[in-house]
Amino acid sequence: MIYLDYQATTPLAPEAREAMLPWLGGPGEAGFCNPHSPHRLGRSAKAAVEHARDQVAALLPDGGRVIFTGSACEAINLAMRGVPGEGPVAHSAIEHPAVRDTARALGACYELPVNAEGLTDPAMPLAPGTRLVAVMQVNNEIGTIQPSARSHAAARGAGALFLSDAVQAFGKLPVAEADLIAVSAHKLYGPKGIGALWVRDGVQLAPQITGGLQEGIRSGTLSPALCAGFGAAAQLARERMAADAAHVQTLWHRARELFAGWQVNGSASERWQGNLNLRRDGLDVARLMSDCRQVMFSAGSACASGSGAPSHVLRAIGLSDRQAKNSIRLGFGRYTTVEEIEEAAAMINAAADAQ
Ligand code: PLP
Repeated sequence: MIYLDYQATTPLAPEAREAMLPWLGGPGEAGFCNPHSPHRLGRSAKAAVEHARDQVAALLPDGGRVIFTGSACEAINLAMRGVPGEGPVAHSAIEHPAVRDTARALGACYELPVNAEGLTDPAMPLAPGTRLVAVMQVNNEIGTIQPSARSHAAARGAGALFLSDAVQAFGKLPVAEADLIAVSAHKLYGPKGIGALWVRDGVQLAPQITGGLQEGIRSGTLSPALCAGFGAAAQLARERMAADAAHVQTLWHRARELFAGWQVNGSASERWQGNLNLRRDGLDVARLMSDCRQVMFSAGSACASGSGAPSHVLRAIGLSDRQAKNSIRLGFGRYTTVEEIEEAAAMINAAADAQ
């Protein structure tokens, strides 16, 4: 089995798993306690949560706070629904459904188009009264890196808050400045089931879940195990950021050679190189996937695949529905080897040639 779906999720780093184990205690053991309990074991669980918060915060800008959530989807919902005001929400045309569908649910919203490279234009005028601008840092389908700093400045100039969905960038690239930043542990070799929202000091959000307000504006008992895993993964990502990026670059160059006959979707330069979204005219992707069952890859984003609808991201960069349906996404990262890329390319190319 060759795993090439790193945008959907990443393997749990052994270091993150190790950090989680003490907090999965059963009867007679410590480590199962509620981190919001005032007794000694509760306080030690709380200390683990706060240590993890510091580890996650070390990858985020100064001047804000980290609120743990159950996922990045929850963090995005908290940010978008919690921002005060009545004005419309602007978002790039290639946002994840967590942003697009939430914007639609909120009512007044509009899209900021991208060019054929999959890049937004920060000079695009914003509608008067826009209260929030959401532009992701790295796209999950085509990997393009947005000019986030300039979009943030434009939003600020128009009096709007700026939300960065940094899920695919966090731990891989320095995180872009924003007012609100959403991240997820399972995309950086941490556990599934935990994300976070970074909130710039002075930004007020209304809670979206009522209850104990354990995280100040977010209710729900935190899992010390998930927090510890997230924290350890974030620390490891910080220590290995340059080495991970260099490794991914090696894989990217080898993959580009091996898939020389295919078109790359989205900018090849302004891109996280662990994402290779490829297209080949006439390709029957469903058949390809069934012929290459040993390779785990995607026909689009994991969220969109299965719906049968052509990807909104590929359509936004100007591809026809047919071209979008001729596309595959290969995602690789820290634990992928050059040999795996070579083996997968041989299988995929042979199956595509045989069609
Ligand atoms: N935003 C982007 C860009 C993503 O890729 C994903 C996951 O695929 C999400 C948000 C949602 O993250 P989570 O799975 O933590 O809800």
